[in-house]
Amino acid sequence: NTPLLEVRHLRVEFPGRHGALLALDDISFEIAPGEIMGVVGESGAGKSLTGAAIIGLLDPPGRIAGGEILLQGQRIDNLSPAQMRHIRGRRIGAIFQDPLTSLNPLYTVGRQLVETITTHLDLSPAQARRRAIELLGQTGIPAPEARLDHYPHQFSGGMRQRVVIALALAGEPQLIVADEPTTALDVSTQAQIIVLLKRLCKDHGAAVMLVTHDMGVVAETCDRVAVLYAGRMVEVGPVQELIHRPVHPYTVGLMGAIPAMDQDRERLLQIDGAMPRLNAIPAGCAFHPRCPQAIALCRNERPEMRLQGRTAAACWLTANPAEALP
Ligand code: SF4
Ligand code: MG
Repeated sequence: NTPLLEVRHLRVEFPGRHGALLALDDISFEIAPGEIMGVVGESGAGKSLTGAAIIGLLDPPGRIAGGEILLQGQRIDNLSPAQMRHIRGRRIGAIFQDPLTSLNPLYTVGRQLVETITTHLDLSPAQARRRAIELLGQTGIPAPEARLDHYPHQFSGGMRQRVVIALALAGEPQLIVADEPTTALDVSTQAQIIVLLKRLCKDHGAAVMLVTHDMGVVAETCDRVAVLYAGRMVEVGPVQELIHRPVHPYTVGLMGAIPAMDQDRERLLQIDGAMPRLNAIPAGCAFHPRCPQAIALCRNERPEMRLQGRTAAACWLTANPAEALP
């Protein structure tokens, strides 16, 4: 059973005058076909960078400095820009926070959809047009046929993000990387778009890597979750496990941020302090200055990811007692 996507020991660095900043350090996770994988953590944790590395759109001078990314068992981290362009759209779709990033303001949405469809699928222009109407209809855009001739600015923010979802699905990709797809929308639209994204990806059999800082969205949408902190993985596992039995103290804090949960969680709501800058990541466990459970060992030794039941976490608390002895 080959995973759809495998990220193995991914390192991303930004070379600079004072040496390279390690922005992602040893990120490893898998996404199964059709699965919705949440990637969470505070802003600056490396969530978007992980997505950008996967779709081959790291902002220079950022570069992959180690590890591998495999799509259906094939490396995609070392492809040429032209090869990667072919993978984007056809095999991996992308949805960004701001729908305008994905849309060309000068072309009608119909033209953009038809071009994407004919670039990636073997369909005639007439078939592609029918497909475009079908996709817009599936995303809940009223009178989709009439809307084909409209330009992006003629859509509201929520409708525009529906167009972007249609566009991301147009090449029938196996994976959609969605980076905070609802953050720019008003709250009532956010929930609709997330429900739509989830339903459409299920219908189309596409897996999703959903980058979000919204733990409520994760709880409602995702099958599994990866938690990042300061460019490192701290925990990964099934969403119900991470919500009800979080292992890593940082995950415990994050899960406290799920709105309207039972009262026990209220107490966990605060994680004091801020995430370190990339040029000042603490030695040992990067979370130790903020961790209420830190022991002496945490200041010097970096914990590795360890499997515990169905989740894996990088925390000395999960190590066996002899290993974790201060
Ligand atoms: Fe806290 Fe130590 Fe675990 Fe890091 S390794 S999360 S500092 S207990
Ligand atoms: Mg981001």
